[in-house]
Amino acid sequence: MKRVVLKKDVLVALLEISRHLHPNEAIVLLRGREVEQDIVLEEVLLAPASVYGKGFSEFRLDMLPMDFSLVGVAHSHPSGIPIPSVEDLNNMIGKVLIIVVAPYSNKSCIAAYNSRGECLQIIVESSGG
Ligand SMILES: [Zn+2]
Repeated sequence: MKRVVLKKDVLVALLEISRHLHPNEAIVLLRGREVEQDIVLEEVLLAPASVYGKGFSEFRLDMLPMDFSLVGVAHSHPSGIPIPSVEDLNNMIGKVLIIVVAPYSNKSCIAAYNSRGECLQIIVESSGG
């Protein structure tokens, strides 16, 4: 399908949160909207009651606000392998699954997938102007 458009500050936040929690797995919620063929990610939110662990991370879906404009979830793979697991895809929420891999240095450390596990193109948009 689509492309995933990341605001620059969303990219930076994803990398920083993942780096901060390493070697545990980070998980965050992605707020945004769909614009024609793109899914635009506008905001990173820490999930309520998150648990960060080695090889797993989870949160309480029932604690999310009702009006939540959730377009997807991002989590890190401290292993550095940017491939979603079967569990990742089965438990996917929203339209896009983002995986952030070590060493969390730049755009090339982020991969995006749709619910069928197909890799999506990532565009980084600078926030200014
Ligand atoms: Zn995973």
